[in-house]
Amino acid sequence: MNIAQPFTLRLPRRLVLQGMALVLALSPAALPLAIAREGVDVGGNSAFSKLVPADSVERSAGQQYAQMLQQAADKNALGAKDNPQVRRLRAIAKNIIPFAVEWNPRARDWRWEVNLIGSKQVNAFCMPGGKIAFYSGILEQLKLSDDEVAMVMGHEIAHALREHARERMGKSAVTHGAARIGGALAATLLGVDPRLTDGLARGGANLLTLQFSRTDESEADLVGMELAARAGYNPKAGVTLWQKMGAASQGATPQWLSTHPSGNSRIAEIEKNLPKVMPLYARARRG
Ligand SMILES: [Zn+2]
Repeated sequence: MNIAQPFTLRLPRRLVLQGMALVLALSPAALPLAIAREGVDVGGNSAFSKLVPADSVERSAGQQYAQMLQQAADKNALGAKDNPQVRRLRAIAKNIIPFAVEWNPRARDWRWEVNLIGSKQVNAFCMPGGKIAFYSGILEQLKLSDDEVAMVMGHEIAHALREHARERMGKSAVTHGAARIGGALAATLLGVDPRLTDGLARGGANLLTLQFSRTDESEADLVGMELAARAGYNPKAGVTLWQKMGAASQGATPQWLSTHPSGNSRIAEIEKNLPKVMPLYARARRG
């Protein structure tokens, strides 16, 4: 039985008109300036991410990250906190992190970590919950500027903020008809390909390459670029970063490229979106 309609019809006409005026006043069309958001436009998070609890994804990622750090430490491959490159990475992260919450309120409670792993691998990642790692190879071989580091870091942080791993787990749950996702499957989807990390993550024997969809990659490029711009890093570094990646791939393919393919289309997309983020960068530099 529909009781809403008779109720509405009994409302005094004056009240109904007032209500309609209120709705119109609050609609986006009536308030374009208040509603419009500066920066890139990538829409909301995927509904698939809702299928798996965020806290369990973040907890598993935290465990996997800790395990990886331990394995690096055992090999004397974990950057000490007074290592200049560790300091540099942490300083850049500190500038970017305040802008993360706007993309995901959970990030307010994340226990962010930034570590450097001594390895020739050209790779970096940010696992769910804000667990960041850079391999020394990406800094050394590509001779990244701070702006370029910020673009890589922003990109990886964006994957975590947009919950792309959680989304993939949700999609897998649907695909496999699994009501509950076991640890092994979760592990395959959380973060790092152990084959890319000098065997540092060998603890999880069944890990697979985590390769996000093109849409996720494009989102991470744009959101990452905005994060970096707001933090005062030149978003044009996105172009030079991908040019360096491209040049490095003339020899052996950098690991980061194996999960982040097709440099030219990325550069075009980054260039197209520069006008949206350059004002944010200009303001951050003045501020
Ligand atoms: Zn990516």
